[in-house]
Amino acid sequence: MRIFKFGGASVKDAEGVRNLVKVLGETGTEDTFLVISAMGKTTNAMEGVVDAYFKDKSALPGAIQEVSDYHRQILDGLFKSEKHPVYRDVKSLFEEIKGFLAWNKSPKYNFVYDQVVCYGELISTTIVSAYLNEVGVRNTWLDIRDYIKTDNKYRDVGIDWKKTQEKVSKGLDRGKLYVSQGFIGSDENNFTTTLGREGSDYTAAILAYCLDAHSVTIWKDVPGVLNADPRYFDKSQLLNKISYREAIELAFYGASVIHPKTLQPLQRKEIPLHVKSFLNPKDPGTTVGKGEGIDPRVPCFIVKKNQVLMKLSSLDFSFIVEDNISDLFKLLHDYRMKVDMIQNSAISFSVCVDNKFGRLEELLNHLKGKFKVVCHEGVSLYTIRHFDAQSIESLQNGKEVLLEQRGKETVQLVVKQ
Ligand code: ADP
Ligand code: ASP
Ligand code: MG
Repeated sequence: MRIFKFGGASVKDAEGVRNLVKVLGETGTEDTFLVISAMGKTTNAMEGVVDAYFKDKSALPGAIQEVSDYHRQILDGLFKSEKHPVYRDVKSLFEEIKGFLAWNKSPKYNFVYDQVVCYGELISTTIVSAYLNEVGVRNTWLDIRDYIKTDNKYRDVGIDWKKTQEKVSKGLDRGKLYVSQGFIGSDENNFTTTLGREGSDYTAAILAYCLDAHSVTIWKDVPGVLNADPRYFDKSQLLNKISYREAIELAFYGASVIHPKTLQPLQRKEIPLHVKSFLNPKDPGTTVGKGEGIDPRVPCFIVKKNQVLMKLSSLDFSFIVEDNISDLFKLLHDYRMKVDMIQNSAISFSVCVDNKFGRLEELLNHLKGKFKVVCHEGVSLYTIRHFDAQSIESLQNGKEVLLEQRGKETVQLVVKQ
């Protein structure tokens, strides 16, 4: 079995959905499981719906309408008549969102977020599945929440591998073409959960692991994994082959072309991951698999923008050692900060974090009771794997470096944006 994952960019409009059919025309659809993300920037728009619900109810109808209009335009670009049953199906998904928000009593943001944001994927797969059937590509739509079981740490859940394996092994027929959602799952009480932003790649890997798939292909708007994000670096170069280990490092440091959790399940079963262009499906792209290093061996540049650098020192002349470091990490965990980089000396501790869940102020208030804190918001964290003097120089290029760390293979620089 093969798992194909199509991300938001690949299905951002009617043309994108037609192109998906073209890709399948070239690859065939035998023994294939399609994992599809929300269309275009729908997940951001759904986050807007949740924000409106919590912060400004008067903006809620408009926020939902915006998402609805966007999908309506795609439907109109794909189907000849609005009498097609897919219009009714999509409409009832929007009714479900409105119904949920009307009846919901939970004040918990992350819970409500997962119950609402999941509709991006439910709607996109409903449309793509109907369109594939329409053009003669017979397929079965699946609600992946019946298969991917998780804990209830909403917005960033962990997978219950045992239950997921059971559900997938029992419930799926090989040989069928399935169309299903990335990014979402469900908890013990069958509430919807999400695997964290950009989590559809991870869904593909979870399914591949449970199905013992022979490969996963993620279809992207780039030719494959490049040695730098072409949005931020001028001369990026295609990597033909990379080892799991190398890909894990790149994704972990923030090469957002692959979700970092995707690789370990694949590595465990030695399932190759292909990263290919949905615009040029015949091109080889990048293969992540067994073996060593990267080919070609060139420095790889990764940037994470909008990070936060905190420099802490003690208020009471104590050293920064085990006891206060362990307190610090507990706080970082409690406030759901993702730690990118740490550096400590006898009297200070620097940490660069991703304030993903918007809880920086709360954390700072807490820290200020115990430490002197200097905080730089909006910094960029640059990582170069396989660096050389020239690559570091090209990166620094007049920028103010706030923190630097060098290892054997990797150098990291925190700079003002
Ligand atoms: P999806 O449509 O699957 O969500 P993403 O937008 O998440 O796709 O991933 C593709 C994007 O990842 C590219 O457009 C590119 O800007 C970015 N990217 C970041 N790092 C890299 C890299 N090293 N190689 C290729 N693309 C990268
Ligand atoms: N739709 C989700 C997001 O935009 C998941 C994904 O696309 O991978 O984060
Ligand atoms: Mg994405």
